[in-house]
Amino acid sequence: MQQSSKLDLGSITIHWLQGGYNQLDGGAMFGAVPKILWSKKCPPDAENYLSYRNDPLLIQTDRANIVIDTGLGNKLTEKQQKIYRVSQAWDVPTSLSLHGLRREDIDYVIFTHGDFDHAGGVALRNDSGELELTFPKARHIMQRSEWEDICEPNIRAAHTYFPLNFQTLAESGLLELVEGDADIVTGVRVRHSGGHTRGHQIVELTGSRGCAVHLGDLLPTHNHSNPLWVMSYDNFPLDVVAKRTEFFEEYKGKNSWFTFYHDFDLRACILDEKNGVLEELR
Ligand SMILES: [Zn+2]
Repeated sequence: MQQSSKLDLGSITIHWLQGGYNQLDGGAMFGAVPKILWSKKCPPDAENYLSYRNDPLLIQTDRANIVIDTGLGNKLTEKQQKIYRVSQAWDVPTSLSLHGLRREDIDYVIFTHGDFDHAGGVALRNDSGELELTFPKARHIMQRSEWEDICEPNIRAAHTYFPLNFQTLAESGLLELVEGDADIVTGVRVRHSGGHTRGHQIVELTGSRGCAVHLGDLLPTHNHSNPLWVMSYDNFPLDVVAKRTEFFEEYKGKNSWFTFYHDFDLRACILDEKNGVLEELR
């Protein structure tokens, strides 16, 4: 288990949980950007792959324990693990215990969106081989439009929304759909963004001594800080460019941290005027 990174915003603290590592094709991660440009920032391996984390954020306020996204989960088949090149297993329960928490202690799960690398850990396969909700007491927050697309995916999304992740949740009565912007608890707010998926949302965190924003897959790593560097996986790339630009302007103006789920090197950073890394948390 790696050493725990922590971002302290006063009344809110952020830690990262073990959601599993995998590898993805470098070209797909940078869309139309020529390899000669992106590979200077992050050199790929001999087969053109780059390594990524899928680490949920644990947000603690004086009122609630919140998890943003849920990692790869423990339900991927051996074939899927091979395809997605999973190199570190999901173990959210153990990493929660390092913070003195049990799965039952999580009050909210916020989904940025429903892709399998973000929703894979919503339900786990227990020792008897049955599915159970990973956070059995949590209210699970998602945009209504995202849930609609999960229930009726288009031909492309059908490959990234896995029904197995949502059956248990749908039956639990713990799914709460929001539309647009919504306050979850004091200092924690979700905002609809679209872009990566139609119902993608971001999470704004305002503590007593600083603020952070989690842009989800609108900003998968610090190497995507050029607003034009969008992924092949983005469903609405022009919306990603527009929203990333808009959110950069707004949150840089607040001296906000930008937190990451997929970044293999940085947990969070503050961006300078030219969107370079001014300050970093590893
Ligand atoms: Zn993702």
